[in-house]
Amino acid sequence: MKGIAVLGATGSIGVNTLDVIARHPDRYRAVALGAHRNVELLLQQIRQFEPLIAALTDPAAAGVLEQRVRELGLRTRVLGGPGSLEALATLPEVDQVMAAIVGAAGLRSTLAAARAGKRLLLANKESLVMSGPLLMSAVRASGCELLPIDSEHNAIFQCLPPGSNPGAGPEGVRRILLTASGGPFRDWSAEAIAGATPEQACKHPNWVMGRKISVDSASLMNKGLELIEACFLFGLPPSGVQILIHPQSVVHSMVEYIDGSVLAQLACPDMRTPIAYGLAWPQRIEAGTDFLDLVRTRQLDFLAPDTTRFPCLALARAVADTGGLAPAILNAANEVAVTAFLERRLNFPDIATVIEWVLSRAGGGRAAGESIRSLDDVLQADAEARELALECCRNHGAATRSVHA
Ligand code: NAD
Ligand code: MG
Repeated sequence: MKGIAVLGATGSIGVNTLDVIARHPDRYRAVALGAHRNVELLLQQIRQFEPLIAALTDPAAAGVLEQRVRELGLRTRVLGGPGSLEALATLPEVDQVMAAIVGAAGLRSTLAAARAGKRLLLANKESLVMSGPLLMSAVRASGCELLPIDSEHNAIFQCLPPGSNPGAGPEGVRRILLTASGGPFRDWSAEAIAGATPEQACKHPNWVMGRKISVDSASLMNKGLELIEACFLFGLPPSGVQILIHPQSVVHSMVEYIDGSVLAQLACPDMRTPIAYGLAWPQRIEAGTDFLDLVRTRQLDFLAPDTTRFPCLALARAVADTGGLAPAILNAANEVAVTAFLERRLNFPDIATVIEWVLSRAGGGRAAGESIRSLDDVLQADAEARELALECCRNHGAATRSVHA
């Protein structure tokens, strides 16, 4: 019986994780559930899974939750505040941590899980993008098992030789072929993309996901973050990762070997497949998904991405080459710009404009490519980039209001 902490329990990945756990009550127990401020959903999950401990990082919401839990006579202990997720991640009863908080908010708890030597099921790609060298060295130091949950990286992991070490360039690999659906604007003209609304950006053709990653998928920044993620996870240079637009989202990624072989992992687009793989590895368990019918799929297309209509991808590749603090700066600027777009304070194409502007100014006197010495370095770069991005969003605000009027 494995104890699981689900951080981001109320999100898309969290809900899917609990769905898989509920299918295997003999193997897994959700002992810790953490989220931001969704009291109703977390309470419902507490009633169903009866975890030892639950946490909301928003202190006011945690107070409400604690009262409701007490009124219902439930035995779950409730924690609140920013440090509560780290407490969940390091609990002795926890064997595996599903890191499924969205954005930089997941950084500390992801690092805490790695340092505590828990099996780390990594969905929170932003934490790896921000602090890749720190997180990977924490993984190596504690000897924790790092299982990528992002469907592409999970596919790559499945196609690599067993026993490949995290962050070490696997033997015999020539390239990784990272697939992308292309998002909802794949076939839109630049003019149409310029007028895109948050609702259109969040309507992904193949996946149902949280709003932030949905916008990232529409701008292809998601693939840019995944490129950086792949370099850290698998120890490859950015030039060793080719990005392919694959509209069907059936081939989740591929590994090309020096003998000319290409291995691929295929499945219906359903996050429960990589989640179940991460939970059970090296075994396999049922995940509740549909099974592929390739006769019905019929066609698998692959195209080169268009970085003119999707400049975020080019920005991310440049940042992957620069390394150091540059990925943290890119990630912070993107988070601020995506929030502004979702709140209709920014036009869709200005997400890239903001990121580019911030990248050209951030660094606080240090070169963006300078290597990361500590978590403080990362947090400082993140905070500075956020401030710059907010300033840039304000400057673009007036133009945006007229488009959305
Ligand atoms: P989501 O928005 O549906 O859920 C996010 C979760 O994080 C929620 O539980 C929320 O309570 C919590 N959260 C948000 N802000 C927080 C804060 N400030 N402090 C603490 N907790 C906070 O997001 P999602 O789609 O489930 O994605 C989660 C992560 O998984 C992201 O990093 C995303 O890139 C990655 N991912 C998601 C998918 C997918 O299919 N949804 C696929 C691959 C990777
Ligand atoms: Mg992905």
